[in-house]
Amino acid sequence: MNEGKWIRLKAKKESSILRGHPWVFSGAIKEKSAGLQAGELVEVLAHKGRSLGWGHFSPGTSIAIRMLTFDETLPDSAWWEAKISNAVALRKRLALLSKPGQNVCRLIHAEGDGLPGLIVDHYDGYVVVQTHSMGMAKNLEVIAEALASALGDELKGIYNKSAKVLKKHGATDPVPDGWIRGGNDLDTVVACEYGMALEVDIVRGQKTGFFLDQRENRALLRSLSEGCKVLNVFSYTGGFSVAALFGGASHAVSLDSSARALEVAVANAARNGFDETRHSVVEADALEYLKSGVADFDIVVLDPPAFAKSASARHSAVQGYKRINQRALETMRPGSLLFTFSCSQAVDDRLFTNTVIAAAIGAERQVRILHRLHQPPDHPVSAFHPEGAYLKGLVLEVS
Ligand code: SAH
Repeated sequence: MNEGKWIRLKAKKESSILRGHPWVFSGAIKEKSAGLQAGELVEVLAHKGRSLGWGHFSPGTSIAIRMLTFDETLPDSAWWEAKISNAVALRKRLALLSKPGQNVCRLIHAEGDGLPGLIVDHYDGYVVVQTHSMGMAKNLEVIAEALASALGDELKGIYNKSAKVLKKHGATDPVPDGWIRGGNDLDTVVACEYGMALEVDIVRGQKTGFFLDQRENRALLRSLSEGCKVLNVFSYTGGFSVAALFGGASHAVSLDSSARALEVAVANAARNGFDETRHSVVEADALEYLKSGVADFDIVVLDPPAFAKSASARHSAVQGYKRINQRALETMRPGSLLFTFSCSQAVDDRLFTNTVIAAAIGAERQVRILHRLHQPPDHPVSAFHPEGAYLKGLVLEVS
């Protein structure tokens, strides 16, 4: 199997792979065997011919190969089972699959679990699989089998939600989204995060349906919200708003440009006992709204979508982060708190911090950094793939 499918690197391009970094950029490739197809497993050879391991081939994109193994091992079904059961074992080790009042977590975080191109989120036993490469998409069945055996009775269904991302990666005819195991044709699931009941729209929602990566940061907001008026900008389905209300916020406002997300935000607040006297929504463009002033609020949350989808977009992304943070800081009331985030992989911690500082200078405000925030441990970062640390945030006190 796959004998004779190979690519050979240019001279001196093997060092990052030897260190365990799983990406081969297209510019590093010297030559390849004839007829390689998108999604095929290929052996990666150093310039002088030494085998460096096997990976999935994605022609026409800047990351041409995502490595699965770093030796001569060809991934077979036992390999997939071991990887996936290790990933599930880590979440069990983190007590994320057995916590009272909590039944959501990320089960597989791509490079962080040695499975580049694969995301799997767990919502009360309903599991959503997102394959980000043709190579992963081709292995959907073996992935589903391995998930079923690793989760056993805890598994209620597996939903494949990959068509949209695969099309972005050049697939012309991806498998349509849908339940591939169980699921009873459900569209939405009510999941539980730190005792909050939250509706996850698996079918129509963004990404896999919910943003699990903010779980611990929502918990922090909750611990600081007593008696506060909270503005949750880029709220999606209101996760931060409900967390603030659980923490005793007097009122939370969810702002998003998506009417559907706000519908769910209202339902989520109501489900947890907060009606329109405690929670309201604004359908608007974030920047426009921030221009009108936010002096009314004790806490402002800014959690925009990834402004930089690639390294080449970094510069304009930085301008975007500076603009929204400056707008918010210009009118925030003295003593208020700003929770500000970036989920752009191409903007690292230091660049994000410097951008927010530039925004404070632009707004002519003094700020202190109270917390530096990241993604939680069910979104682990391979030490050899620092790009995996995509979520960064700051809590600032504005004076
Ligand atoms: N904080 C959320 C996740 C935010 S995802 C949570 O904890 O679940 C980013 C959100 O920004 C999406 O819901 C998207 O609809 C919204 N969005 C994107 N561009 C926007 C804009 N210009 N103005 C307002 N909202 C926007």
